[in-house]
Amino acid sequence: MKRILLVNPPIYDFSAYDLWAKPLALLYLSSILKKQNVQIEFFDYMDRLSKLIENTESNIYGCGHYIKEKIAKPKIIEDIQKDYFRFGIPANTAEKYFESLQPPDVIIIGSVMTYWYMGVEETVKSLKKIFPDTPIILGGIYATLCFEHAQKIKDINDIITGGFSGLETILEKYNINIKSNNDFSSFPIPDYSVYEKLEYVAIRTSIGCPFNCSYCAQKILNNRTYSLKTIDVIKNEIYELTNDKNIKNVVFYDDTLLYNANRHIKVLFRNMLDYNKTFNMHTPTGLHAKFLDEELAELMFHVKLIDPRFSLETADAHEQQYSDHKITNNEFKSAIKILKRAGYKNGEYTVYLLIGMPNQNIMSIKDSIKFAHDLGAKIEFSEYGPIPYTANWAYIDELFKEEPLFQNRTYFLSRQKNYSELLELKQFAKNLNNKL
Ligand code: SF4
Repeated sequence: MKRILLVNPPIYDFSAYDLWAKPLALLYLSSILKKQNVQIEFFDYMDRLSKLIENTESNIYGCGHYIKEKIAKPKIIEDIQKDYFRFGIPANTAEKYFESLQPPDVIIIGSVMTYWYMGVEETVKSLKKIFPDTPIILGGIYATLCFEHAQKIKDINDIITGGFSGLETILEKYNINIKSNNDFSSFPIPDYSVYEKLEYVAIRTSIGCPFNCSYCAQKILNNRTYSLKTIDVIKNEIYELTNDKNIKNVVFYDDTLLYNANRHIKVLFRNMLDYNKTFNMHTPTGLHAKFLDEELAELMFHVKLIDPRFSLETADAHEQQYSDHKITNNEFKSAIKILKRAGYKNGEYTVYLLIGMPNQNIMSIKDSIKFAHDLGAKIEFSEYGPIPYTANWAYIDELFKEEPLFQNRTYFLSRQKNYSELLELKQFAKNLNNKL
């Protein structure tokens, strides 16, 4: 039997927090490969509950801080006045674990943010030391968006971009014959058996998004497809995942969970009510308030969708037009009224606002904060970072394109002319949140 080691690397950043973060693509891949008689070893540097480390505390919904080590900032970003960390299971602990394994036939490393590539570099270095003859394949978001940069990382043999479709051909080179279907609707249940301890599971009911916001790269990451699993399939996934491990939190990673709700999420939620479930649900990726109606809001409330998070981004009508056309302020107000009628109270729902876009008007951010607060919403900021292949990329200063570390949101925010005012706005929103 062929053996593949799947690895989710550590994070190098100014801050990181486990807000229901799981390497879902690698978990799907683990299931896909196991179904084709490939033996899988799985190592997640970001597993806070690993038996290899002292676990950090979780909140009641399973979120918590990662273990971290303060490290020197990379030279090119050393002028920023903030500490820099390596998050995740320490390198020597990970290496001891790798040493306990039989050499795999192939190693596949996942990647997420473009500016986290130092975690990929560290992972490759550790693995190469222990398995000098095993080919290493890199996939994921960084690999897709920064292909040429990733090619320069020493000891990576192959890079797979935009999903699993190219994997079949790459693995053939190493005498591993599999079918790597890129059709999300037929993906098996993500393989959470690789974790010994879990406090939540993250799933997707769909992949892709019919929208095309100017700051988002989902089109290229999802090969311009929008694909759904059937309700029966999703229902069974949820039953299986929550029964097996007594999971109390189910997290949806969908980009547009409420889209086409009558045929999709409403049907699922009705099923969940019949099931008498005991777990909570969470939506960290941001919901489209535009699709909310009375029935949907009531279902959300009764299935225990905790703290629904809505993407508003801005309450400035001009910026809304320019960046995403997602919703108007009047539509947003109506949606929040519906939400409240269903049972959610002030402070029991969150609104995401964008901050740090180049030339973003300070007053418009302040107005957006007030707008969201007046509607009773907690405010969370999505700090803007430039992302390759987005419409906004064309307007980004060339300097930031040269080096993925410059795309770090904290770094990018600090480069804005009005940085100190942006920090004041963050504090302003925090103060308002405390009043809710
Ligand atoms: S930001 Fe959200 S709504 Fe906009 S394109 Fe990306 S996933 Fe879709």
